[in-house]
Amino acid sequence: MPMGVTHRTINTIASIPFTTEVYLGLHRSPLECVAFLAGYTFATFLMNPDLDLNSDGYQSWGFLRFYWWPYQKALAHRSFLSHFPIISTIFRIIYLLWLPILLIFVLGSAVQATARDQVYDWVPQLAPYLIALVVGMMGSDTLHMLLDVTSTRLKRTFGSKHERRPEGFFEHHGEKRHSHYSRGWRTTRSSRR
Ligand SMILES: [Zn+2]
Repeated sequence: MPMGVTHRTINTIASIPFTTEVYLGLHRSPLECVAFLAGYTFATFLMNPDLDLNSDGYQSWGFLRFYWWPYQKALAHRSFLSHFPIISTIFRIIYLLWLPILLIFVLGSAVQATARDQVYDWVPQLAPYLIALVVGMMGSDTLHMLLDVTSTRLKRTFGSKHERRPEGFFEHHGEKRHSHYSRGWRTTRSSRR
């Protein structure tokens, strides 16, 4: 896998043609382009697929990284839920929101009613921008995964003997059913970053 700085650099450079395409190719409004770029940047620097590791993205959460600690411990590196396009992005969004939603339910009916009113008031108005935000996250995550797959293939072709071993899709994504992967949810991290 490319290092975090490589992911961030390539994703940041790619954000220029991506956002240009959203504006010129898809004819989205400037505000939707800003929402797209915000989601893309958030996914590149903070909520990226490598939160399943003690990565740059994980460290960037600062003291709030405790929030992602269960996610990191529960998911194998490059597992289906952390590194599969679109699905893993949706999973991270759900994970990000589960605690606020739980708090709203715990805080009682008055808070629930207020939250419901806010959602009904704002979500329809903000829908185009929320969609652009999520599509931006998905774009960043998908590029991340393509870089992971590309770097693995390059290692298999040009790398050392160890790196050139055959690797299937799910093994690549940390879900090999046999050998050391089958002993638990975690993979050996040091060699798979
Ligand atoms: Zn990755």
